[in-house]
Amino acid sequence: MPGPRGSLRWKLTLVHWAVIALVLAAGMLYLHVSLSRQLVALAEEGLARDARLALHHLLEAARRGPADADALAHEIGRALGMRVTIIAAGGRLLGDSGLAAQDLERAENHAARPEVVAALRLGMGKDTRRSATVGHPLLYLALPIREGPFAGGVLRLARDLGEVEGTLARMRGILYAGGGLAFLLALGISLGAGEVARRAIGEILRTVEAIIGGDFARRIGSARRDELGDLFRALDALSAHVEARLAELRLERDRLEGILSGMAEGVMVTDGEGSILLVNPALRGFFPSLPELLPGGSVPLEVLRAPGVQEAVRQAIEGRDARLAREVEILGPPQRVLALSAGRHGEGRAGSLILVFHDVTELKRLEAVRRDFTANVSHELRTPLTAIQGAAETLHDSASADPEAVRRFAATITRHCRRLTSLVDDLLELGRIESKGERLQPREVSVRAAAEAALRVLDPLIKERRAKVSVEVPGEADRAWADPAALERILINLLQNAVSYSPEGSPVRVTARGDGEEVAVSVTDEGEGIPPEHLPRIFERFYRVDSSRSRERGGTGLGLAIVKHLVQGLGGGVEVESAPRKGSTFRFTLPRGA
Ligand code: ADP
Repeated sequence: MPGPRGSLRWKLTLVHWAVIALVLAAGMLYLHVSLSRQLVALAEEGLARDARLALHHLLEAARRGPADADALAHEIGRALGMRVTIIAAGGRLLGDSGLAAQDLERAENHAARPEVVAALRLGMGKDTRRSATVGHPLLYLALPIREGPFAGGVLRLARDLGEVEGTLARMRGILYAGGGLAFLLALGISLGAGEVARRAIGEILRTVEAIIGGDFARRIGSARRDELGDLFRALDALSAHVEARLAELRLERDRLEGILSGMAEGVMVTDGEGSILLVNPALRGFFPSLPELLPGGSVPLEVLRAPGVQEAVRQAIEGRDARLAREVEILGPPQRVLALSAGRHGEGRAGSLILVFHDVTELKRLEAVRRDFTANVSHELRTPLTAIQGAAETLHDSASADPEAVRRFAATITRHCRRLTSLVDDLLELGRIESKGERLQPREVSVRAAAEAALRVLDPLIKERRAKVSVEVPGEADRAWADPAALERILINLLQNAVSYSPEGSPVRVTARGDGEEVAVSVTDEGEGIPPEHLPRIFERFYRVDSSRSRERGGTGLGLAIVKHLVQGLGGGVEVESAPRKGSTFRFTLPRGA
């Protein structure tokens, strides 16, 4: 705020005061001049009346008999209380109430006095002069004497204007006092008005400052009924309006932020030149290298360190189409494929580009898995079908000739049909597990009982391979929370592999360990083992270390995939430890309770 001297209020007050002083001075001057004129005019009028009376009296006295001018002058002068002079034609004094008889002869000739000259010429003459004898200004009025003994002379009356001056001086005093009082009063009123203006301006200023400072809740709440009141109410309305708009905007922004941060899609907004203005949390997940964006600031696109995205943004900005969609690969880590769609709004710096990133990595992977799966299934089916077709054709050609051959080919057909059946069975089972069509019903089960049931199923294979299978499940590890049929299927698959991929007569052990919340079940063999480079993919569908070997043993390549899905479905995990020619251990965990 400016200092008091520079403030608007003081400037206004000073102007006020100057105007008041000027008006008062002008008023007083006008009053003074017009009053003094009025008083002089009144004095002149009175004097003219007196002069005519005096003239009349003089002429009457002269008509009655011989007259002594000096005596008459004294008589009339006494009666009127003023100086009366009778001047002969030619200017010599005949009588003067203000002079002694002996001084008359010495008196100056009055023929040149202005009032005397004017009276003789115009019928009446006046003049105002300061008298050397009295010291006051005197008003002289002269009338010509047209008849009688003094004809051709002039009768002159002189009136002391000291009285008029005194009246004027008193009037001046009253005027000054009144003017001063009026001035003081006006000063007070002007100060008061200035104070009102100052308060109002202060109030407006504080409100505007509050609005600038972001405090929109401030209200003046004036009950004034004048223009200031209107202004205050308008300001209050402005605050309320801004407050409401701001709240609306805030709500909208929060809603938008909520939407943006809740989206699984990454969203990025850039200006029309490709500088990043805004990103959502999902996008940060895709691009961890992205620095914190300053609010209101922008970050060059280069910080994304994703050339594919940079290229797409350039094209979206420079291209003819306002929309663009494509896939970009980020090298990661983690490596991802993102489907990007961009929409451009406006041009140049003021324009903007909105990019939405959709993570299609999993979709791509699933697509690849499905492709592989179809290829694998076709391939797996073709082998037995070709064998069956070959055997059937041969049978057809040579059936009657050689009964031994008939039996051989029929056995081949049967074997391959069995293969096909187990392949289709495994596929169906995997399909059921994956589509969750088969509901697992976990309950408390005995690991030992499940292992023994599996052994009973595998009895023919075990006997054939003369495998030495042992089950070591201590009491504390016997209880697990699992679906009994699923647990049995897991153990069958693992035991079948252990027996199949081990030399004849080799030992196979089923062990279990109770470990806190979990039970860990292991199937260990001392067979051929798995080379380390195959371990990461061993649980994939159709993945085999040696396909012909697996097929020879009736494997479908789906056993471990089924194990993995079932274990995960039961809330556990599966892992393998293996070394070529040393043997393998497949270990899976199960929860101990619900
Ligand atoms: P398969 O029907 O071929 O046995 P699996 O999914 O059960 O299919 O096993 C996948 C591959 O893992 C097998 O082909 C085999 O090469 C290897 N494998 C599984 N279990 C063992 C094991 N105990 N010892 C050695 N190799 C194994």
